[in-house]
Amino acid sequence: MSRGAHADDRVGDERLWGTAIAGSVIELFGHTPLVRLKRMSEIHAIPCVLAMKMETTNPGGSAKDRPALEMIIAAERDGLLRPGGTIVEPTSGNTGVGLAIVAAQRGYTCVFVMTDKVAPEKVALLKAYGAEVVVCPVAVAPEDPSSYYCVAERLTLERRAFRPNQYANPNNPLAHYRTTGPELWQQTAGRITHFVAGAGTCGTITGVARYLKEQNPDIQIIVADPEASVFSGGSGRPYLVEGVGEDFFPAAWQPDLYDRIIAVSDEDSFLAARRVSREEGILIGGSGGLAVAAAIEVASTAEPTDIVVVLNPDSGRGYLSRVFDDHWMANFGFLRECDECVATLLARRRANGADLLYVNPSNTVREAIDLMRGHGVSQLPVCKNTPPFANAEVSGAVDELELMNAVFRNPSVTELPVSQVMGPPLPTIGIGQEVDLAVQMLVGAPALMVLAGGRPLAVITRTDVLSYLEGESTHG
Ligand code: PMP
Repeated sequence: MSRGAHADDRVGDERLWGTAIAGSVIELFGHTPLVRLKRMSEIHAIPCVLAMKMETTNPGGSAKDRPALEMIIAAERDGLLRPGGTIVEPTSGNTGVGLAIVAAQRGYTCVFVMTDKVAPEKVALLKAYGAEVVVCPVAVAPEDPSSYYCVAERLTLERRAFRPNQYANPNNPLAHYRTTGPELWQQTAGRITHFVAGAGTCGTITGVARYLKEQNPDIQIIVADPEASVFSGGSGRPYLVEGVGEDFFPAAWQPDLYDRIIAVSDEDSFLAARRVSREEGILIGGSGGLAVAAAIEVASTAEPTDIVVVLNPDSGRGYLSRVFDDHWMANFGFLRECDECVATLLARRRANGADLLYVNPSNTVREAIDLMRGHGVSQLPVCKNTPPFANAEVSGAVDELELMNAVFRNPSVTELPVSQVMGPPLPTIGIGQEVDLAVQMLVGAPALMVLAGGRPLAVITRTDVLSYLEGESTHG
C-alpha cells in the first residue's frame, strides 16, 4: 500500500531487508485492522456485515497519528519545519500524542498549550513522550494575554515554531485520503457500502469520503454527530462526548461528500461505548460509542449484502474516570443506581403539579424575584438556550437570601441582569441516584439540580425530600 513519503526508514538499512522488523515506530502508523462487531450485530439483529476500523492499534492509540505524520512531513517539505525545530499546537488530545511521537522520532521539540480544564492524566501523557506542556487558565477572555489562544500565538512567534493547526491544515484530511481510505477499500475487497465516523476537525470523514467516492460514488458516507453540535444543525451548546462535534465549521467540512448526518445523544454514545466494551471485548471511548450508535441505526435497515464500516478513533482507557465510572455516569443521570431513587421522588412531586422554573442570564433581578414569589420557591437556576429546557445550558443560580441582601445594600440592583449577581450553579444529582445522597447533599446546599441524560430536568429542595420521606412513612 502506498504510504506517501512515509515508509523510507527500512530502505537504508539492508540488515532489515527480508525481516519483519519495522525501521521505526512511524512505519507502524496506519494498517489498522477491521473486525466484525459480531455480538453487537446479534444483539441488534443486524442483517448485514457491521465491521469496525480499529484505530486504537496505531502506536499512539488513535486515528490522529496519521494526520500528525502527514502534517509534519508536509511542513518539512515546505520548509516550515527545519532540523531541530519546534512544533507548537494548542491540543490536549490525540493529535498531541501523534505529533509527540513523530517529533520524538525526528528530533523536534513539541510544545502543547492547553487549558487548566484538562484532566491531569492528559498532561502527564504528553509529558511522558517528552513534550513540553503549557497550561493556561480557562476562565479568561480569548484576547487576554494569558489565554490559551494568545499563549499559543506568542510561543509560535518567540520560538519560530511550526504550528500544524489541524483545523485548517489540508494535510489532515489528506492523511486519511492517502491511508485510511485505501485501507478500507482493500480490506473490504471494494465491497464497502457505508462508512460511518464522528467528525471533529472533519479530517477523517472528509479524507476517507473523498477516496471512497472516487472508487465508487454510491458508497454512503454517514457523519455521526453529538446532538447540539453545529454539524447536525445544533447550536454548539456543550455536550459531554469528547473529540467530536464543533461550534464552528472547520476547513475540512465538506457536506457535498456526506450522504447523511445522524445526531446522537451523550447518553446513547456512552451507553454504546460501554456495551461494545463489555459485549465485544473492545474498549472504546465516547466518540467511538457515538459512531457505533449511528452505525447500528444505519446497519439495521441495510441490505444483507451490505458492508457497513464504523471507525473507532480511540480507546476507552482515556475515559475510565468518566464513561466507565458508574458514579460519574449516574451523577449525570445516564445510569440508575437504585430502584427507589430521585426519579421516584420527582414522579410523586409531579403528581402535585410542580414544574421546573428558571431564568435567563439577561432577565432582571426583579423578574427573578417575581418568579420566585409567584411560585413560592427560594432559588432558581440561570440557564441559556431556552426553551425547551432540555436544551438548557446552566450558567449559575440565584438565591432568595442572597438577592435580598444585595437589594438591601443597593435597591437599584433589581434592574440589573441576573448574570451580574448570580452565584455558581446548584450541585447536581442524577435522576437514578439514591434519595439518601440527596439528603446528604442538602446539608450543605439549599437545592440540587437533577440531571437526566446529562441535561437539567428539575430542581429539588429540602421541602421536596421531606414531603417524599413523609409520604414514604405514611405509605408504610
Ligand atoms: N474522536 C476523538 C476521540 C478525537 O480525538 C477526534 C479528533 N478530534 C475525533 C474523534 C474526530 O476526528 P477528526 O478530527 O478527524 O474529525
